[in-house]
Amino acid sequence: MSDEAPIATPSIATDADERVRRLGDWDDASLRSLADEHGTPLFVLDLDRVRANYRRLSAAFPDAEICYAAKANALSDGLETVLDEGATIECASAGEVHRALAAGASGDRIHYTAVNPPRADLAYVVDAWTDEPDLTITAGARDTVDRLAELGYDGRLCLRVNPGVGAGHHEAVRTGGDVTFGIPADRIVSVAESAVSRGFDLVGVHAHVGSGVLDDEQIDAHRRFVDRVAAIATDVDAAVDSLEFVDVGGGFGVPYREDDSPLDLAAVANATRTGLSDLDARLVIEPGRYLVADAGVLLSRVNTVKETPETTVVGVDAGMSTLARPALYDAYHAIRPLARDEASCVDERELVGQTVTGPICESADVFCTDRSLPRLERDDVVAIGNAGAYGYEMASAYNSRPRPASVVVDDGDARIARRRETLADLTRLERGRPDGGTDRWTELTRGSATDSTRIPEVGE
Ligand SMILES: *Cc1c(COP(=O)(O)O)cnc(C)c1O
Repeated sequence: MSDEAPIATPSIATDADERVRRLGDWDDASLRSLADEHGTPLFVLDLDRVRANYRRLSAAFPDAEICYAAKANALSDGLETVLDEGATIECASAGEVHRALAAGASGDRIHYTAVNPPRADLAYVVDAWTDEPDLTITAGARDTVDRLAELGYDGRLCLRVNPGVGAGHHEAVRTGGDVTFGIPADRIVSVAESAVSRGFDLVGVHAHVGSGVLDDEQIDAHRRFVDRVAAIATDVDAAVDSLEFVDVGGGFGVPYREDDSPLDLAAVANATRTGLSDLDARLVIEPGRYLVADAGVLLSRVNTVKETPETTVVGVDAGMSTLARPALYDAYHAIRPLARDEASCVDERELVGQTVTGPICESADVFCTDRSLPRLERDDVVAIGNAGAYGYEMASAYNSRPRPASVVVDDGDARIARRRETLADLTRLERGRPDGGTDRWTELTRGSATDSTRIPEVGE
């Protein structure tokens, strides 16, 4: 933080404790002043809202361990916030484990989920385990267990099972029934027995149903999923008798559309509890999106407005490289212009069908098509809702557009949490030997000394 006084934003949005925060609940004047001070595109993450989301979930699942899935938003301030609230962290890569450790997580608060793990990731996490022997590794294949054994790992092991059922908002995120993820249910007991006989400390069974469980039908699917996982965990427990926890993954949905109802947490908690009631094991849940999605907005400025016979095309300065979900999943994100000043009111603008596009040379670079929105004008700042989850995490520098800055709001005060990338950042890695040379990670990615695919040292 610079020595300027923090911008007072006590009312960045209406009450942080509401069950759902819609885009219209954010305060126009506060967001506009953040856009003016820090530029656009700009991610804003309200940590007070993250805390409120955590507490609501924790109240619905009072006995559960809440293991935050870092891939939804791995910003250090966010990780520190959920750690302070009591969360553990679910990490899906060496980089996420590195971030969790840097945010102050001790090993007992780290679950590393190995999904087709690169060799360097396993080596990094096994390294970390020698200092933090209480961390837990989740393996989703017998082969991963073998590779861990070869690296000398015999610590806390959790097995990811493929329960054969899934749920979620889009085919690409319904992982529960996808063969990529987890050990087939009919092999899990034998993999568990063999792991125990090789000295692993088998502590958990894990499954992740996919993302975005929201409506009654999806809650029903969640119930069937939990019942199935419970049956599988019961078999594993009978065989190895050491299960500490059953982890039913994440996937708690948020309403992206203005007229979607919020998730009925009580119904989900009830379905989960009932399914697992016969098991003497702790429940672990892995929310990502639920904790951060509605705590974040993306601010972007209108560059250009073009009338066409079909619709009005509005070009903004954020694109698919900033927020990839619309291009990737055809995902809906609410969009609205911020009032220009205290005297103006967006609601007085005419509603017209508008297509909002980014600045990337790709036809997929579209946030919405012919959507009825208050008429947008050049230089308007627009807010894009539910950008706290899978926003910055999926951002890239495609088209050589430097990634945006992130601001956090904490106890009502805003501060910069991650600076905007500069043009110099775009070429920094190409100019001779990068600053600081190589690190442990660089070494690990080179594989063994005999590996002929080894990347030569600069100057070698
Ligand atoms: C992505 C993921 C999560 C979080 O999913 P959300 O839909 O964001 O809650 C949890 N666990 C695992 C293993 C994941 O891959």
